[in-house]
Amino acid sequence: MTNLILIKYGEISLKKGNRKYFEKKLVSNIKLKFSAIKINIIRHQGRFYIEYPSGQHDRIISGLKEIFGIIGFAPALKVHKEMEEIKKAAGLLAAPSVSKDLLRFKIEARRTDKSFPFNSYKIACELGDFLLSKYKELTVDVHKPDWTVNVEIREYAYLYAGQIKGPGGLPVGVSGRGILLLSGGIDSPVAGYYMAKRGLTQEAIYFDSPPYTSVKALDKVVKLSRLLSGYIPKFVLNILPFTAIQERIKEHSQSRAVTLMMRAAMVAIACKLAKQKYALCLVTGESLGQVASQTPESIRFSGSKSDLPVFRPLIGMDKEEIINIARNIGTFRTSILPYEDCCTLFAPVHPIVKPVFKDMEAIYKSLNLDDLIEEAIDKIKIVTF
Ligand code: ATP
Ligand code: MG
Repeated sequence: MTNLILIKYGEISLKKGNRKYFEKKLVSNIKLKFSAIKINIIRHQGRFYIEYPSGQHDRIISGLKEIFGIIGFAPALKVHKEMEEIKKAAGLLAAPSVSKDLLRFKIEARRTDKSFPFNSYKIACELGDFLLSKYKELTVDVHKPDWTVNVEIREYAYLYAGQIKGPGGLPVGVSGRGILLLSGGIDSPVAGYYMAKRGLTQEAIYFDSPPYTSVKALDKVVKLSRLLSGYIPKFVLNILPFTAIQERIKEHSQSRAVTLMMRAAMVAIACKLAKQKYALCLVTGESLGQVASQTPESIRFSGSKSDLPVFRPLIGMDKEEIINIARNIGTFRTSILPYEDCCTLFAPVHPIVKPVFKDMEAIYKSLNLDDLIEEAIDKIKIVTF
């Protein structure tokens, strides 16, 4: 008897032409995730089975919850095609549900190997009777079962029960690469998560402003990156020294425009970096109307500094909704650590809410940031995960 995990992948099976490519990406993401564990992945009829060494069960289960493209998975057993062995496996799979007092069950059997002497109906009857005699408190309920034991007879007999929900989405990487503008706040890690869910692999850029921001603020971004690296294989954080640019903006812009100029410079820099990294788009945590730099007029101006598309997956979400997701994906507690943000330190009390595009353009031009930007990009420090 071998312990396995059955993996069901969703949307990717719909993409007929690209199916092979998507499956390959999913397999390679699973391998990267568990590179420290010796696993074996078997593909069969639109599903994967993972064989893993005993003792690694919990690690595999928690890891699979972070791999996009997986809609569900279930602990499974592989046994020889003999009824006694199949019954024994069904008994083992039923035990956790019985101990939780989940007492209504159903058997679903499928026989791909027609040489097996029992047909699907007969297999279900045999196993049902066996479980009823083994656990007297059980009843069969084919309409509203608390749990189902699935049996598939192929080259071996495969049994699984107790499906666990996966994160869904598309395998990270199938939609290409983007640059995530990652601050230490609540929003941008959630934005990165959502784009990863649509198959976008990402590198992050953090605009670091020592001494206005502390090493602890940077540590926080490193921690958030580590959390994101659970969802995004081979995640990279680019730390860009932003102080000189920020000081130039502070000295030469009217104070009400400072935040917007900083946003525009960030977008311009991220776009340059994207091109160096063969990335196709930028990602930010902006949400409409959340702050003055996130009105349609402000977003139009800052966004104009990139000729690559800027994806803003949180644009229509309330802060409450974003916070709930941040809690679910595990970034919230790190995001609320109380270290200063470069932009709040420089933020004017009354920022412009409805900037006039050509006025902003004139200010931005007068800043002459090009050389400073080139220098800063040359000084990027990289952290890999
Ligand atoms: P967050 O919670 O992501 O910090 P926020 O509500 O604080 O978002 P802003 O500070 O206005 O929003 O920033 C808008 C977006 O600009 C962020 O979501 C992020 O994508 C980007 N950004 C802001 N500051 C930085 C920074 N220091 N480094 C990298 N990106 C940044
Ligand atoms: Mg912020």
